[in-house]
Amino acid sequence: MGRRYFCDYCDRSFQDNLHNRKKHLNGVQHQRSKKAWFDTFRDASEILAEEQTKKLCRRFLQCGQCDFGPGCRFSHMTVEELGALKDHVEAEQRAREMQKKHLPPCNVESWLEERAKKKSIHSERCVQQGELLEQSKA
Ligand SMILES: [Zn+2]
Ligand SMILES: [Zn+2]
Repeated sequence: MGRRYFCDYCDRSFQDNLHNRKKHLNGVQHQRSKKAWFDTFRDASEILAEEQTKKLCRRFLQCGQCDFGPGCRFSHMTVEELGALKDHVEAEQRAREMQKKHLPPCNVESWLEERAKKKSIHSERCVQQGELLEQSKA
C-alpha cells in the first residue's frame, strides 16, 4: 500500500510517490483549490474589485491553463465565476448584517475550527465508530 499524501487544499489523498505528487501539484484542479483556499482568507469584495479591474487572461481562456497561475496579472475568472463571486459578496454582506443583530457568527475562525475537527475525526473515525458502537450497546 505505502504512504498516502494528503493534500490540504483539495481535501483528498492519494498514494505518495514523486510521479503522483508532481502530477497532482501541477494539476489545474489543485491550482484552483489552492487559490480558493487562500481566497477564503481574503475579503471577497476585495477580490471582486480586483478581478473586475483585470482583463481576462487570453491564455487561460484558450487553454484552460496559464503558467502564471494565481500570480497572473490577468483575470483567470470566467463570467460565471465572477457572477458566483458577486453572489458570495452579497451573501457576505447579508451575513454581516445578521451579525450586527447578534445572530450566531459565521466567520473564517469557526470555519477553520470545523475543518480542523473534520480532519481529526477523519483520522480517528475508525476508533470512534468502534467506541460509539460500544456505547450504543451499553
Ligand atoms: Zn491538491
Ligand atoms: Zn494568466
